[in-house]
Amino acid sequence: MSFQTDTIHAGVAPDKAYGAIMTPIYQSSTFVFEDIGKHRGFDYTRSGNPTRHALEESIAALEGCSCAVAVTTGMAAIATVMHLFSTGDEIICTDDCYGGTARLLKTIQEHFGIRINFTSLRNPEEIEAKINGNTRAIWIETPSNPLLNLIDIAAVTAISKKHGLLSIVDNTFLSPYNQQPFKLGADIVVHSTTKYLNGHSDVVGGAVLSNTPELDEKLKFLVNTLGTCAQPFDCWLVLRGIKTLVPRMKEHERNARIVAEFLDGHQAVKRVFYPGLESHPQHELAKRQQRGFGGMVSFEVDGGSEKVNRILKGTKLFALAESLGGVESLIEHPATMSHASMGAEHRAEVGITDGVIRLSIGIEDPHDLVADLARALA
Ligand SMILES: *Cc1c(COP(=O)(O)O)cnc(C)c1O
Repeated sequence: MSFQTDTIHAGVAPDKAYGAIMTPIYQSSTFVFEDIGKHRGFDYTRSGNPTRHALEESIAALEGCSCAVAVTTGMAAIATVMHLFSTGDEIICTDDCYGGTARLLKTIQEHFGIRINFTSLRNPEEIEAKINGNTRAIWIETPSNPLLNLIDIAAVTAISKKHGLLSIVDNTFLSPYNQQPFKLGADIVVHSTTKYLNGHSDVVGGAVLSNTPELDEKLKFLVNTLGTCAQPFDCWLVLRGIKTLVPRMKEHERNARIVAEFLDGHQAVKRVFYPGLESHPQHELAKRQQRGFGGMVSFEVDGGSEKVNRILKGTKLFALAESLGGVESLIEHPATMSHASMGAEHRAEVGITDGVIRLSIGIEDPHDLVADLARALA
């Protein structure tokens, strides 16, 4: 089936009890055994739940892989994957990753003795020099947050394979509609389903995906053992959100392009970060690697915090809030909000200045979005 058909049908079938067309919410912690040692596929919700199972089948179909495990948050997905590693192991991680990922990896490094080598993955030819006998994995996030730098996934996974390392891709920013890391050689994909997959800003959730029997078993074991699994009602919400993923992503992108072009021509704006603009240094890679350019746009303004604050508080439609990927437009300040936990030093290294503003473009009428930004910038 095509991707769009899968968003509607994969993993879901009319309910066996009453024929409900929509997947029921099995809000039950436990399931009655028919006989000793005999149940109908589920015994306890931490180990498995029919609503969660439907969501997992759906996401696995969209990413084109053999296994998905739905977990409580995006961070739970990342924390679960980190349990594949042990003391002494090293992980090479893209230096401008999500702030929460950076915080988790730095904490892990201290507490469990796993070394994290934060480095730019933008020039794949420089990566091999950073691999040593302890390196176990390369952590890829593309496009990056909030500067929308790209990493050539196929080039990095080829290096990973050559050295027997795991390639892990955080695919939250583009959703499987716009980018399919398994086709580019990834071993593990993680999602914050909080963002585009759910798309309605009413749930936090995550997913861990894999595509070999060995990793599938390990990751399922970890989620059951750690108890990071997602709740049935949350799974139902994400499953409902996925049904409109394709039309939403198309609208996000149409609006993002209009907003990016508007900002690009505005005198108060120093730089616009959007892979869909021809001026983006990795526009060609974006065209090759992604189906579309997504709905995130960042820009940089000159001037001190007063000017930045005026813009942040000056919009009426764009709400001042963290998170992204919902139908409503959001504006935020990475230095004091989403990337505050990264620390000033790490931010400076990767170029997230205090003048950078990030927009999550919703699916409102684009003319209203542009008018709102024009007012705030004036
Ligand atoms: C939001 C986000 C996360 C964390 O997800 P939560 O659901 O907030 O825990 C991880 N990676 C990226 C790229 C994100 O945008």
